[in-house]
Amino acid sequence: MIRLALVSLSGYCSGCEVALADVISEVLPRIEIVYSTLIADIDKLPSNIDLSLVSGAVRTKHDIEVLREARNKSKLLVALGSCASFGGIPGLANVYVVAELLREIYGTYPREVPKLTRAAAPVSEYVQVDYRLPGCPPPYKLLIELLVCVDEKKPLPKPPSRTVCDECSLKKRDVYEENVYRLGERDDVDFSRCFLEQGILCMGIATASGCEAQCPSRGVPCRGCRGPPAKIVDQGERLLSSIASVFSKIDEEELVRKIPDPLGYFYRFTLPSSTIPYTPEILKRMEKDEGSD
Ligand code: SF4
Ligand code: SF4
Ligand code: SF4
Repeated sequence: MIRLALVSLSGYCSGCEVALADVISEVLPRIEIVYSTLIADIDKLPSNIDLSLVSGAVRTKHDIEVLREARNKSKLLVALGSCASFGGIPGLANVYVVAELLREIYGTYPREVPKLTRAAAPVSEYVQVDYRLPGCPPPYKLLIELLVCVDEKKPLPKPPSRTVCDECSLKKRDVYEENVYRLGERDDVDFSRCFLEQGILCMGIATASGCEAQCPSRGVPCRGCRGPPAKIVDQGERLLSSIASVFSKIDEEELVRKIPDPLGYFYRFTLPSSTIPYTPEILKRMEKDEGSD
């Protein structure tokens, strides 16, 4: 029986816990939920936790306190989902300093919201993480596999070194169109054939396997939510270089025009874990930032 804590940080959407609620009925005899503010009304972290599943990016001082307490009280701590693993979608806010961000959202600077950290960060920036299970949310089968491994005290599954392309069953001819389209921009898409070969950006090429290519198999290109495969540090960088080599014959300016939001395309889930440095200009603005802690 696993004494399980579900720790939700503020940079999250609760989708990971909803995914977990789905699997709980399958593993119910194996778990006892000892902490969760969402699916059980238990708001004090007990001691002797077997497994803490942490979802959400770190965004407030309170997040850091809860996270450290969970780490101290847990045998295993797992980053659940792409927000906890890489910073996720909340990490895209890191292109703003906090005061700018709050003004952008609320119009005026609000005094009643909790002080935010300077940047959204993955859990591993503050505590030691035993395992990452990325995905937005993580795939059902992998969640069950993780819980069964912990319950049976088996080694945790190895992070995948393969990509979504490796497990994608769409037909490939190794012939690429010499143009880039957004989905919806052309009405003759062959949904049984690789999107990328048809000029539609698909991130499966640099995204960790494990989801059974569920988006392409349902007619939607991969957005890269599982992050990079093992041994690749920067998913966005790998995506950029792969796309550039696949579409090498397309005029550079045309390519830039077709991808109006490169950060949102290539770093949608991983910006805080990427190798993109803060520019001196952003660092200077951060020092003066009235909105962060
Ligand atoms: S990883 Fe996705 S589903 Fe999970 S908390 Fe973040 S945004 Fe929500
Ligand atoms: S690029 Fe996308 S559609 Fe093509 S094989 Fe990879 S995952 Fe499948
Ligand atoms: S296909 Fe891509 S975006 Fe869809 S679940 Fe898999 S990794 Fe995530």
